[in-house]
Amino acid sequence: MIRTEPTPRRPGDAGRGRETGQGPVGDDGRDHTSYLFSWELHGRLLWFANLRWAAVVGLAAAALAGPAVGMPSTNPSLAVVAALVAVYNLGFIYLLRYRLGPESAYGDLRTAAILQMVTDLAALFVTVHFTGGCASPVLPFVVFHMAIGTIMIETRSMYLLACAACGAAAGLFVLEHLGVLVRYPSAAGGVSTVATCGLSTAMLVGLVFGVVYLTDSVTSRFKARNVELHQITTELQRSLAEREAVERRKSHYMRISAHQLRSPLGTIKTSIQVLLDGYLDPGSAEGRRLLEGTAARVDSLLAIVNDLLELAKMREGRVKAPWARNVSVNQILADIFDAQDTFASEAGVELVPRFIQEGAAVLDWAVPPDLVYAFENLIHNAIKYSKPGGGTVTVGLAVDHERATVVVADQGIGIPDGLHEDVFLEFVRAPNAKHAAAEGTGLGLSIAREAVAMHGGEIVLQSAEGVGTTVTVVLPLHRVPPELSAP
Ligand code: ATP
Ligand code: MG
Repeated sequence: MIRTEPTPRRPGDAGRGRETGQGPVGDDGRDHTSYLFSWELHGRLLWFANLRWAAVVGLAAAALAGPAVGMPSTNPSLAVVAALVAVYNLGFIYLLRYRLGPESAYGDLRTAAILQMVTDLAALFVTVHFTGGCASPVLPFVVFHMAIGTIMIETRSMYLLACAACGAAAGLFVLEHLGVLVRYPSAAGGVSTVATCGLSTAMLVGLVFGVVYLTDSVTSRFKARNVELHQITTELQRSLAEREAVERRKSHYMRISAHQLRSPLGTIKTSIQVLLDGYLDPGSAEGRRLLEGTAARVDSLLAIVNDLLELAKMREGRVKAPWARNVSVNQILADIFDAQDTFASEAGVELVPRFIQEGAAVLDWAVPPDLVYAFENLIHNAIKYSKPGGGTVTVGLAVDHERATVVVADQGIGIPDGLHEDVFLEFVRAPNAKHAAAEGTGLGLSIAREAVAMHGGEIVLQSAEGVGTTVTVVLPLHRVPPELSAP
């Protein structure tokens, strides 16, 4: 029950938060409400344990002074009680300092709190017994104890403890009056009658329940505020962290984009400067070659800018083309195979269409150009990054009632370990890919992933350097895009 290590919060340990109807479980699965009360409860328990030393001193003093005020029964009985309280208080302090911490589960701390309350009440009633029973001057401490308990423990447990305390008091007084237990005199002198004892028991019951009720109504408002404040703080911290992450990503993206555009722009500027300064005649064969090279660089710059715009649009949720109905994945793959045929034969790669004999994968809603872009890039990559001798690129398709699964597998150069996730980031290209194919911006997979995500699907990549790569795309068949399902 009590753990040696700080334990993770359990969703069921909502503690006080549950009473207020507010007990959020955070993304990390922790119950933040119980977390809040865990450290609070731990602090209060320690404070209460320190306060208990005052009770030990009081009991020891009463043990010594009792006989002088007409209570001979206090010596040595109250001295023994004082010693017992001191011993169990040391035990509780050890427990709170070394076995339970502010991080402990709320449930464990609450159990410790209830245990302390029950032990204290037992010590209190023994003291009441030796100091005059229902006429004991110590009796009001039961009420004081209940007030402290209500600050620490949740209401339901406190009402149960209040019942137990009243029951124990009544039981003690009855046993004393029946003669089962000895009736000791109180400081006021003499022993109580049945009538005065009944009256003080009734007053005790009223006071105990009254104090529990009043303390609870005052603290519950603070309790609710506390929970609210904690929720707001957690929410603020989360959104701040998200914002910072977005900002970091944005500036990284801008830096990389600027860097990618700068080097071709620099080359273009140099070429133009060569012509402007008259070092080359634009009409000459050499001048013309320079102009053609410059035009090719402008084309590649345009391609990068177009890709960046495409990516930005997808991220903003603005789709280029409208959503179309009943889009056939088989057809898209077949068209891409036709278009990539020449590129594949030039690279000595055999394209194996395993999707033809499969069932028809028809998406209820899709943006065809975006899907084409995604699959085109995956198949193009598989061919482009095949080994110099060629190989095979297989495109498979599996369909069930819910989803279509497209698998693009090659036997190419593969992706080095540690880069399998990074290659989905803009402009990231593995060193072996840069070596194998100079052409490439590193934007294709980012766009493909956005396009697939826009269709509610996901891309999974498996690869081993020097062995090959398999990319799996799973697309839901019957997804209605949010922008169309919104009222
Ligand atoms: P482009 O933007 O023109 O598509 P690219 O093909 O290099 O350029 P991505 O398609 O985004 O860019 O791929 C990113 C990187 O992932 C590649 O540079 C390469 O390192 C790695 N990669 C992707 N597919 C494969 C594959 N089938 N085999 C080996 N490496 C791959
Ligand atoms: Mg690519």
